[in-house]
Amino acid sequence: MEDDRKDKQKLSRRDFGRTVGAGVGAAALSGLGVEPAEAEGRPPHWDKQADIIVVGAGATGLPAAIEASEHGASVILIDANFDVGGHAMVSGGNVALGGGTSRQKKYGVEDSADLLFADLTDWSVVEPNGFPDYRYNDKEVIRAFADNSAPTFEWLVAHGVIFVEKAPDNLGAGATGNSALRENHAAPMGWTLMQTGKPVDPTEATTRSSGVGLVRPLEAAARKANVQILLQHKMSSLIRQTPSSGKILGIKATHEGKILNIAARKAVILATGGSSGNVNFRRMFDVRLTEEYNGVAGEPYSFQDGSGELAGIAIGASLWGAYNQVGEFGDRLTKAGRIGTQYGYRNLEWQPGSPIFHLVRAVGLTVRDYQNVILVNQVGMRFYDETAGQYTANNYHAISSYKPGSYLNAANIKYNPANFLDAALAGTGEAVNGGGPIWAIFDADAVKREQWTVAPPYVDIAEGYFFSANTVAGLASAIVNKYQRKPMPGAALENAVTRYNSFVDAGNDADFGKPAPKYKIQTPPFYAAWAMPVVHDTRAGLRINGKCQVMDFSGNVIPGLYCAGESAGGFGLHGLARCLVQGRIAGMNAAGEASEISKA
Ligand SMILES: Cc1cc2nc3c(=O)[nH]c(=O)nc-3n(C[C@H](O)[C@H](O)[C@H](O)COP(=O)(O)OP(=O)(O)OC[C@H]3O[C@@H](n4cnc5c(N)ncnc54)[C@H](O)[C@@H]3O)c2cc1C
Repeated sequence: MEDDRKDKQKLSRRDFGRTVGAGVGAAALSGLGVEPAEAEGRPPHWDKQADIIVVGAGATGLPAAIEASEHGASVILIDANFDVGGHAMVSGGNVALGGGTSRQKKYGVEDSADLLFADLTDWSVVEPNGFPDYRYNDKEVIRAFADNSAPTFEWLVAHGVIFVEKAPDNLGAGATGNSALRENHAAPMGWTLMQTGKPVDPTEATTRSSGVGLVRPLEAAARKANVQILLQHKMSSLIRQTPSSGKILGIKATHEGKILNIAARKAVILATGGSSGNVNFRRMFDVRLTEEYNGVAGEPYSFQDGSGELAGIAIGASLWGAYNQVGEFGDRLTKAGRIGTQYGYRNLEWQPGSPIFHLVRAVGLTVRDYQNVILVNQVGMRFYDETAGQYTANNYHAISSYKPGSYLNAANIKYNPANFLDAALAGTGEAVNGGGPIWAIFDADAVKREQWTVAPPYVDIAEGYFFSANTVAGLASAIVNKYQRKPMPGAALENAVTRYNSFVDAGNDADFGKPAPKYKIQTPPFYAAWAMPVVHDTRAGLRINGKCQVMDFSGNVIPGLYCAGESAGGFGLHGLARCLVQGRIAGMNAAGEASEISKA
């Protein structure tokens, strides 16, 4: 991974020169009245300063920066990456904003801020596996979201985002509320997609949905609002008056190997995008998510390394809404949509034209029909019905006879706790956490049926995510991968294949109930492809209030610190809407703070 990041830096320097342009050197600050260090914790000099420092230029940071600037603050927006956008850049652009948007009104969808609030705090909505979508949301945080949801739709339109012209729908919806259709779709227009390196087909420019249709207009609006965007600047820590008290004064950031002290006269806004890619951090919530769960959705474009949360905790901030992070609903973990690649998230297909394809390494093989493969764990044993689905989430009319807040919503759910993802995470009986690698096993006939090309760039042979052999036992011994803790026993894999083939003959999977197993695995060569579940959303982070101010372990506001989006806690909603709305809230409120450094 370290090497990957170095490569990325190499790639990005070219772009960096083009986009940063507006950088201000330390020398230029000498006349800006920055006071020498006085208080404990204050650095001896500031390299840069602005009223507001926004950390992270994704779905949260861009609107935060624009709002702060439009409310009269000077703004520096930094991002660790070589370009803006974060996960929003490669997202599907499905934006769940409701509460009475102009689009809902135009198409006759009844909604209001109160209805949205009621939906997103309804304790009685429960998924078939028993997990409640909304029960552990923080009501102050949700009230702020509900009140600002519709205004954010109008604000996005006013700032250049073009939504596909159609009625709000349910496409991409997850935990968006049972009572109204709320999904809107950002049109990609002619913008180049990071995942393919080219724009969408012109016939789809205004009809498809893509995150680039959010990110590029917001980037343009930020530049128009004189937000100073500093790319390849990574925040390493927050600077507080004393290590655990007083106001937040700024941040430390690394850029080209140098540490910069950047002063925030009013506030710092953390918009760093979550912690799902940080193995130690995510395991505080779920010990099972060990390092082999390495295909975090949205990586390797930008990384959910928890750096905002860690910086906050280091100066006394609390975490919040931790239950949401382990909630087994929606997209928290997803079944692999593509196999034979590290990055198998079903909704993100990387293509060789992508500027970061050298980091992704392989497109992967899209599994159209899980009848064509069996899945085995690292010791060569099947563990579940491969055709089974994954966690579900509530959305419009998911409960057909819905009565807000009624216990009958929960009582009438047909309880079904069996789940592919939990079976995959179960492990093999060792006193070791994590399930270990999961491999899709198939034969040459499956390759023909699925019309796969089992060679690079479709599969990642070089890094050990795809193997082939002429016998099943030979395939087991060919598997060498850094996460495979011990060799797969050839006899076990042979047994799994032979037994499965007998189920095909019998028309019945006596082990796991796969519906009418269709195809034997019998024609060489045989293949093993990486098929790990993908870690997706971060749904817990720093404790915030309705204004997105960060709070400490005693429930006190930390002066001058805001957080929003996936790095903030208290809200289990998947994705963009919460980030866009909270980004705006943080930006507006931060701009209203008193200017601390100039008073000093
Ligand atoms: C493939 C994919 C598809 C998705 N599709 C949808 C969808 O259709 N609808 C939906 O609602 N949601 C979707 N999502 C989720 C959505 O994209 C995210 O929830 C959202 O982008 C999170 O916003 P954020 O601002 O918290 O983080 P991000 O958008 O990821 O932005 C965080 C930024 O912070 C930067 N950063 C991190 N740490 C530092 C640091 N220490 N210093 C400086 N910069 C830092 C990162 O480089 C990044 O640019 C999708 C996600 C993925 C990965």
